[in-house]
Amino acid sequence: MPITSQIWSLPDEAALQKLALEFGHSLRAPLVVYLQGDLGAGKTTFARALIQGLGYPGRVKSPTYGLLESYQAGGFDFLHLDLYRIENPAELEYLAIRDQFSRNGILLIEWPEKALSALPPADIRLIFAENGLDRSLQCEAVSASGRALVGKLKNEN
Ligand code: ADP
Ligand code: MG
Repeated sequence: MPITSQIWSLPDEAALQKLALEFGHSLRAPLVVYLQGDLGAGKTTFARALIQGLGYPGRVKSPTYGLLESYQAGGFDFLHLDLYRIENPAELEYLAIRDQFSRNGILLIEWPEKALSALPPADIRLIFAENGLDRSLQCEAVSASGRALVGKLKNEN
């Protein structure tokens, strides 16, 4: 399947928040989103802006230690994972991610590279990059539902 790709520059955090908000308003479940990029590139900030942008009133913390956090927002069931500390994909089995992933589910996965074999395939890959003061977000749609979302975002930006 061809990949639809789009790149946005994110001069400041407000730009990232705005994009996350538009992403939220274009969402259709179920969707699997891989969040990629180095430490500090903006993965958690994006997930937080997305979930809070859909009306979640509480704190959205980094799941680095807890591995998994879940939220309900905008009519979706969010599962937010951070696999940075995973050494072996088998460590994920007890989380039974596929069982927790509902028809209404949006799966947000930081550091998917750490456990690809234990994860459902991505619909969208969000690749965050930081080069000094230059930050950007590349969005790659790798399924039909991913392409539909990226198509909507492209039309708005
Ligand atoms: P990651 O989850 O990728 O490790 P975080 O989102 O936790 O990274 O951290 C990113 C840091 O950079 C946060 O301190 C955030 O405030 C800041 N940040 C994120 N995006 C931008 C941006 N587009 N411009 C400026 N600062 C940003
Ligand atoms: Mg993070």
